[in-house]
Amino acid sequence: MSGVPVTLTTRTVTAPGAAPAGAPAGRPVAGGEPAAGPEAVRLLPTRGELADVVARTDAGGDHRAGAVPAPLTDGFGRVHRDLRVSLTDKCSLRCTYCMPEDAGPFMPKDELLDASQIERLVRIAVDHGITGVRLTGGEPLLRADLEDIVARLAAIGLPGGGRLPVAMTTNGISLDRRLPALVAAGLSRVNISLDTLRPDRFRELTRRDRHADVLAGIAAAREVGLRPLKLNAVAMRGVNDDELADLVAFAVSQDAQMRFIEQMPLDAGHTWRRDHLVSGEEILERLAERFELAEVPGRGSSPAALYTVDGGPHTVGVIASVSAPFCGDCDRLRFTADGQLRNCLFAREETDLRTLLGEGATDAELAAAMRLSVAAKRAGHGIDDPGFVQPGRGMNAIGG
Ligand code: SAM
Ligand code: SF4
Repeated sequence: MSGVPVTLTTRTVTAPGAAPAGAPAGRPVAGGEPAAGPEAVRLLPTRGELADVVARTDAGGDHRAGAVPAPLTDGFGRVHRDLRVSLTDKCSLRCTYCMPEDAGPFMPKDELLDASQIERLVRIAVDHGITGVRLTGGEPLLRADLEDIVARLAAIGLPGGGRLPVAMTTNGISLDRRLPALVAAGLSRVNISLDTLRPDRFRELTRRDRHADVLAGIAAAREVGLRPLKLNAVAMRGVNDDELADLVAFAVSQDAQMRFIEQMPLDAGHTWRRDHLVSGEEILERLAERFELAEVPGRGSSPAALYTVDGGPHTVGVIASVSAPFCGDCDRLRFTADGQLRNCLFAREETDLRTLLGEGATDAELAAAMRLSVAAKRAGHGIDDPGFVQPGRGMNAIGG
């Protein structure tokens, strides 16, 4: 089915410190630098609206024996299969493209979803077509209950059979110590962020002296046999753009796939500039100086375009979110650590699932709230629109 129309009487609440609902979202700044946006507007559907959605869609049939609910489909026909679950906005690093040095205040502990709330929301999402979940943050390894969360999610059955695959994106710090328990709990895959092979650069870029810890995390993931093992790097001009090929060679040596991400305007410091962008095209040009690259067909909804390295079997991925957006194939939704559903990294509205949970919403009502959010998803991230405004949340508080 296509998305249900969004009603206008939704209770609109605003995040702490946010601009009032309906307030202008800020003005763009000339010169390719996006305006710093206000906090997202929080949408809190009324119970009446949710009941209406439940009645008008087959969300109402969720509890009929044998009924398979329609998937979460937006107004453009995009069916949502991939869920990112952020577990915290805190981090052991301070990557310049993500967090400022003096980050905070962080989300209050009592506003974070607990393991059972996460499990419930993910189960509902899986009942409505989600087929894979990725834990992220902030740094997910900072959650003391991570093993419990992984175990709960990995036990969720997919309607078509089998268990929910649970992946994690991490900076790798302390992964070596936690990995045996995480794998035992059912963790299926990891992506580890590694922007540079040079410890001094790493210290500058992340403002922490933890390069060796990240390498230990990568080694642990390789040794335990989690495959495919993926390494993520944000390509940055004048920072690491001279070692892109070295990163690929390192990844191949680790039996891993290197993935380069174009830097997006999501840093909490609002320092992104388009004219600093190292584009996907430029990344490929640099890599082609050392490797023979051939595009792998059949990308589907994956954000990464893949290329075999020197004939394979190893591949390198390029995620050109800014210069070649893949919004038309986007199948992703996000739960923030404080229980807000975001239908896009760049969304200006969030749906307040945490409050609905606290109000005792039923599974059908929570599913209806997810439908309303998906129905309202925009066609694209709009980074190129003249009125683009950077989200108020930094990447660490959204969940990358
Ligand atoms: N802390 C974990 C990590 O770094 O892998 C998980 C959270 S982090 C926000 C998830 C991913 O987002 C990382 O691969 C990181 O490089 C990427 N990221 C963060 N800020 C970004 C930005 N402004 N543009 C593009 N990617 C970004
Ligand atoms: Fe932390 Fe990941 Fe953001 Fe770096 S990118 S500051 S590791 S959340």
